[in-house]
Amino acid sequence: MKSKVAVLFSRDYEEEAVYERIRAGFQLLGGADTFYKEGEHLLLKPNLVRGAAVERAVFTHPAVVTAVARVLWEAGCKNLQCGDSCGIGQAEKIMRDSKMLSGLAPYGVKTVDFSREQQVQYENGGQKLEFAMAKPVCEADGLISISKMKTHALEHITGAVKNQYGCIAGLNKAKGHTRYPNADSFARMLIHLNQCISPRLYIMDGITAMEGNGPTSGDPVPMGLLLMSRDPIALDSTFARLVHLNPEYVPTNVHGETMGLGTWHTEDIELVTEQGPITMENLVKTHGNPDYNVDRTRSRGSGILSKIGFLRIFQKKPYIDPDKCRKCGICVESCPVDGKALTFAKGPKTPPVYNYQKCIRCFCCQEMCPHKAISVR
Ligand code: SF4
Ligand code: SF4
Repeated sequence: MKSKVAVLFSRDYEEEAVYERIRAGFQLLGGADTFYKEGEHLLLKPNLVRGAAVERAVFTHPAVVTAVARVLWEAGCKNLQCGDSCGIGQAEKIMRDSKMLSGLAPYGVKTVDFSREQQVQYENGGQKLEFAMAKPVCEADGLISISKMKTHALEHITGAVKNQYGCIAGLNKAKGHTRYPNADSFARMLIHLNQCISPRLYIMDGITAMEGNGPTSGDPVPMGLLLMSRDPIALDSTFARLVHLNPEYVPTNVHGETMGLGTWHTEDIELVTEQGPITMENLVKTHGNPDYNVDRTRSRGSGILSKIGFLRIFQKKPYIDPDKCRKCGICVESCPVDGKALTFAKGPKTPPVYNYQKCIRCFCCQEMCPHKAISVR
């Protein structure tokens, strides 16, 4: 059977229009009431990586999260929660500042604290993993993932699959990068994590996406659509096709299909819209963006290649723009490597300095810099 991806078109975040699109998306996937059973608690998991002006497209737009809550609430699901483990800051503050909290209030949505953690053992295909999961994820009956369409330095894109990394509690996220230090191992861990959590539905906010230096320092770009699917690999590969990126170059797509989470192959994906079915070719022709600024090269320096020392010179590296750097030190704090791979080696009044021998290319520093001072090249 093919994986169904619902594609909904919306030019902006006008609340009623977004609500209508999300409602239609649920209907195209079988109806909102098929995603929960009576009395269950559902957890909404937006991408709230860190606070910023809503227009910068750093996190899932409040109108999308509110629309999802409203559709589920109207379908009878009265026990809704919302939370995320942010990179910087507190989810509740980001939700309050962006007015997401006030939007969710009429639907009784409770905010939950993702800093409380619970160790979860997970075994699959002979592999044993342990996740320091945010407790609300374990306590909920089901999770609805509401990601943002963005670029990502390590995995090319961040979308349906990557969104669940925010289910890992607090500082454990940084530690995960040292345990899974390249794009392939990190992607495989993400697939296990998704299989462990098993979100009931994946929604992607791509009305305004982020391109370029994502996932937090890029530029907003209008894409005008929302994607919804039970298959996160089909959803992410539809995103990839829309931005003219070969879905096979996205490690989470390749490992996701091999490990049985979903499919990235176009012939195995059924695209549905409010206007009827559409082929991938036509969708890309009518709504794709060939100019979307994303790395379209195959990932290098992962797997076996990363073990061959001299090939590290071909790997992408993070660089600090001294004119933009405000010496806040957040990049240094976020570096997960023991002894740090970037430090204020030249003093606190000069931008931090990289030790590329130590650097594992996790790009946490680039992701967390609040002043767009770090780029990956
Ligand atoms: S986080 Fe950004 S602005 Fe702050 S010290 Fe690092 S590079 Fe400079
Ligand atoms: S310096 Fe940046 S990219 Fe390198 S290991 Fe530290 S956080 Fe990761």
